Amino acid sequence: MTGDWFEETLHPGLHTRLRIDKLLYEGNSDLQHLILFENPEFGRVLALNGVVQTTERDEFIYHEMLAHLPLLAHGAAREVLIIGGGDGGMLEEVLKHQAVTRATLVEIDAGVIKFSKEYLRSICGNAFEDPRTEIVIADGVDHVETTEDRYDVVIVDSTDPIGPGEILFTERFYTACKRVLAPGGVLVTQNGVPFVQGDELRNTLAALKPLFADTSCYTATVPAYVGGCMAFGWATDDTDLRSVSLDALERRYAGAKLDTRYYTPAVHRAAFALPGYIAELIA
Ligand code: SAM
Repeated sequence: MTGDWFEETLHPGLHTRLRIDKLLYEGNSDLQHLILFENPEFGRVLALNGVVQTTERDEFIYHEMLAHLPLLAHGAAREVLIIGGGDGGMLEEVLKHQAVTRATLVEIDAGVIKFSKEYLRSICGNAFEDPRTEIVIADGVDHVETTEDRYDVVIVDSTDPIGPGEILFTERFYTACKRVLAPGGVLVTQNGVPFVQGDELRNTLAALKPLFADTSCYTATVPAYVGGCMAFGWATDDTDLRSVSLDALERRYAGAKLDTRYYTPAVHRAAFALPGYIAELIA
């Protein structure tokens, strides 16, 4: 932080400064440093260990694309696993699907959940109190290596591959994710901004490829994650899921009665059209 500006130093050659109009909280959980402040462009901004995690104004883009896209591609998801996601924004989107009977959130840092319930209701709503929600406080890798449960959709809503999040970008973790997927299940992952974090996407796809029949990534532009569009990893053994028709997606979207501001069935289909430099990274 510099004066009344927050400076993100995640990328060695690109630092971003966000004005702090009001500091709402700063402190440490057992595992991480948390800061929450008001910014004129983004509303409330949450950063963990100096890295922006989510903001009130643009969270809908990230959460809708990581939740609704795999759920509507699957078409009949009942059991959903979220790894990370302590701010509750992903949980809230997943629970908008009435067909989902259980959403399990595995978060390593109980402090983030406690904090979000107090300060980020505009992002998590009442998702933590939904009877279909199951919270597990654990390292995500331990859960996927040991649970007997099976999931139709696994969403990795992680921090960047630094500190506790590092393990969530490893072959060991992806192998265990495959273990917990029900037949026809799909795994999606947060993979950063490939223009500045190309290795992250390249390494994830290289690890996923030998494990699944169909792997790729899709994109969306989330303003708070600077450096261009963001990439989300995609992995499944059902090779039809990536090409569900626009008609079918529109029917599922209407049936689910979702009220979205970024996700549309047409955006869903288009998100898999990759710019050349991203296709090259995952080739
Ligand atoms: N949308 C965000 C982004 O793109 O940066 C991620 C938000 S969410 C707050 C990330 C969460 O992942 C954090 O609360 C962090 O505590 C959690 N996390 C990090 N490593 C983890 C691990 N190994 N197992 C479970 N949760 C983890």
